[in-house]
Amino acid sequence: MKSIIWNPWHGCHKLSAGCAHCYVYRRDASCSRNANVVAKTRDFYLPMRRDRSGAYKIPQGSEVDTCFTSDFFVEDADPWRAEAWEMMKIRSDLSFFFITKRIDRMESCLPPDWGEFGYPNVSIACTVENQAMADYRLPIYLKAPLRYRSIVCSPLLERIDLKKYLVPDVTNVTAAGESGSMARVCDYDWVLDLRRQCIETNTSFYFMQTGALFRKDGKLYRIERKIQHSQARKAKINFIAKKPCSKGDNLL
Ligand code: SF4
Repeated sequence: MKSIIWNPWHGCHKLSAGCAHCYVYRRDASCSRNANVVAKTRDFYLPMRRDRSGAYKIPQGSEVDTCFTSDFFVEDADPWRAEAWEMMKIRSDLSFFFITKRIDRMESCLPPDWGEFGYPNVSIACTVENQAMADYRLPIYLKAPLRYRSIVCSPLLERIDLKKYLVPDVTNVTAAGESGSMARVCDYDWVLDLRRQCIETNTSFYFMQTGALFRKDGKLYRIERKIQHSQARKAKINFIAKKPCSKGDNLL
């Protein structure tokens, strides 16, 4: 499946501990752009764009990673979101995926025809970086009208007890350390602990990247950006559950 990035708007506001060293802020600072200003991008209408032959530029069947330089539910985007939802609905031949820290805004941001489980081609993951955010966001997330649920622990800032949230609807958990020169430590024990909880609840687990400051067996390692993903892969700790999603197939 082809993967495309669609950023309909850019910029965001820091919200919780996980945002402290947000990569959007880091990247924008390097080109003197203010990431705190949220603006529509030139790609806003990307899903609807066609080439000279009249075919959509994003081919049928693609996965569209959406809003990766903002948060889909950021307040500033309230006036633009209805059009974004509309494009997702029209492009029912694509799978849209986004991750949010603002799950508490979801209900007020949904389109009127979202229904009990949402548009079948839209998947929304909830990110939690510590126990406090897990305990605040996940009860809201678990009640949200969604067909697919996945939890992203990134940047993983401490040991998190997720077990009571790993209900059958939650199909997978992703763990990742923080990148960048200011990165906070990610401890391998916290990663393994999440993995254990996933195995015990038959939930898929994916260790995405180590982050820049990684602790293993009490020893701290600085990991170069270019090998953070491959180092995580080398650990060979991903786990694929045989858990059918109760409301349809897993998109992720
Ligand atoms: S919610 Fe995401 S995009 Fe927004 S500031 Fe936090 S980390 Fe950055």
